[in-house]
Amino acid sequence: MTKFIFVTGGVLSSLGKGVLTASIAHLLKLNGIRASLMKIDPYLNCDAGTLNPYEHGEVFVTQDGFECDLDVGNYERFLDIFAVKQQNLMMGSVYKSVVERERKGEFLGNTIQLIPHATNEIKKRIRRCAQVTGADVLLVEIGGTVGDIESEVVLEAARQMRFENGKDPSVLFIHLALVPLIITNEQKTKPMQHSVKAILARGITPDVLVARCSQPLLESTKKKIALMCNVLPEAVFSSPDQKDIYNLPAELRRQGIEPVLEEKLALTFKPKKKDEWEVLLEKHQSVKTHRKIAVIGKYAQTTKDTYMSVFEAIRHACVHAGVKGEIVLVNSENIEKEKEDLSQYHAFIIPGGFGSRGTEGKIKAIQYARENKVPLLGICYGLQLSVIEFARNVLGFKDANSTEINPETKHPVIDLLPEQKKIEDKGGTMRLGAYHVLVKENTLAASLYAKEMKNKHIFKRFRHRYEVNPEFVSRLEEKGMVFSGRDPKREIMKNAELPQDVHPYFIGSQYHPEFDSRLEQPEPLFYGLVKATLK
Ligand code: GLN
Repeated sequence: MTKFIFVTGGVLSSLGKGVLTASIAHLLKLNGIRASLMKIDPYLNCDAGTLNPYEHGEVFVTQDGFECDLDVGNYERFLDIFAVKQQNLMMGSVYKSVVERERKGEFLGNTIQLIPHATNEIKKRIRRCAQVTGADVLLVEIGGTVGDIESEVVLEAARQMRFENGKDPSVLFIHLALVPLIITNEQKTKPMQHSVKAILARGITPDVLVARCSQPLLESTKKKIALMCNVLPEAVFSSPDQKDIYNLPAELRRQGIEPVLEEKLALTFKPKKKDEWEVLLEKHQSVKTHRKIAVIGKYAQTTKDTYMSVFEAIRHACVHAGVKGEIVLVNSENIEKEKEDLSQYHAFIIPGGFGSRGTEGKIKAIQYARENKVPLLGICYGLQLSVIEFARNVLGFKDANSTEINPETKHPVIDLLPEQKKIEDKGGTMRLGAYHVLVKENTLAASLYAKEMKNKHIFKRFRHRYEVNPEFVSRLEEKGMVFSGRDPKREIMKNAELPQDVHPYFIGSQYHPEFDSRLEQPEPLFYGLVKATLK
């Protein structure tokens, strides 16, 4: 029987509930427990594919092709797993399936209501997730903040799950809330008290409280929270600001969360002595070599979350390459306006993207990196724009473009995938999920993927509608571009590179390598890029 930990949030959003949930899962795993993770997003969207990256951050893609919330990326990185689509539930899909079943007549004679029809569907999806992930403990992060109208039905389903499990300690509630500091540096617990009242009003008594506070909690603050919120002081923890999110599991461990989880869920831990992360991070602290890496995007004004996995992948690579990486998010439109000094960067990454805005700036940066032999990694749109740059400036096709940007171009070096031409709906219709890539021998890609390749193949995740136009492949090759990764069955180019006697590190991938990177195992394209800055 799977046990469940529900994680809720209070006071405000963006407290790091995802990282907290993932950190607890990481600790359970270190203690020999098969833990898995699930995120429930209360929105009416069916997946994250159509959400605005400004507001919600990057869209993460599972190997089985689901476009999900970026927290799933943290789940993969913190547990070193490959997530499946059942691990992110967007409430739109719950309501959709309830209504569809109503139309089919499955509930003939019944009034369809949020309780029990939507709640039953939610519970079914949670149990299904536990089943497909084979978890002994499934941590379920409930998106949003307690008190939001949208999340009421999700909290109600969670409440019922504890109720249905009776006295058996198989459902645990962890509540994370803000403890702000005021001018005198006092740690204020009132907002947390109110949020605990709000969750109590929904019939849920939290078992463990975690305070999000910029500082470690004082003993007196802890005691006050315990007294006012009805939990033991031993079950009050804090999630203070971290230099590195990967420090949070160790921080929680130091505070003694493990015995509390073990006891409350009646688990038997088989602890591992040392966490590999702690060793890696400790070693990294004394690193001196500094490198400045530019990530060139159009979503550069607001939050770095838009490129979360890219940033994480660079950091993983830096840890292994012994580099203190300074990652700068550069607005591609500033490059267009000549407002950026590109010579300050040791490497460039052109991440995925959509639409025409900012693309000319990215193309300029690619040209700069190619001509000045600065290491460059182009991801998805980044690969496509690298091909455009090469077609314009090496093949001399001045108007070369993607039909996504200029449908009228005479040189459509990037064009829609044939199967995309008839698609009209925008939700979940891109080429999504993991496919095999056949890697060409004696190329940069082959040397980077030497360890990862199985019988010359790697398995990588995609999210795109456009591709390198097969009609231009031979002309690009004649001028020196090497397509070092291809689809094993079809004419889809998946890696493009320049030979190493021409450029020290110039490579692109149609897939998203950032999703596969782990602190303990950086993705080879990123690792290679950071290593190349040392030469
Ligand atoms: N817009 C491009 C396409 O759809 C690239 C997508 C991406 O970078 N994820 O093919």
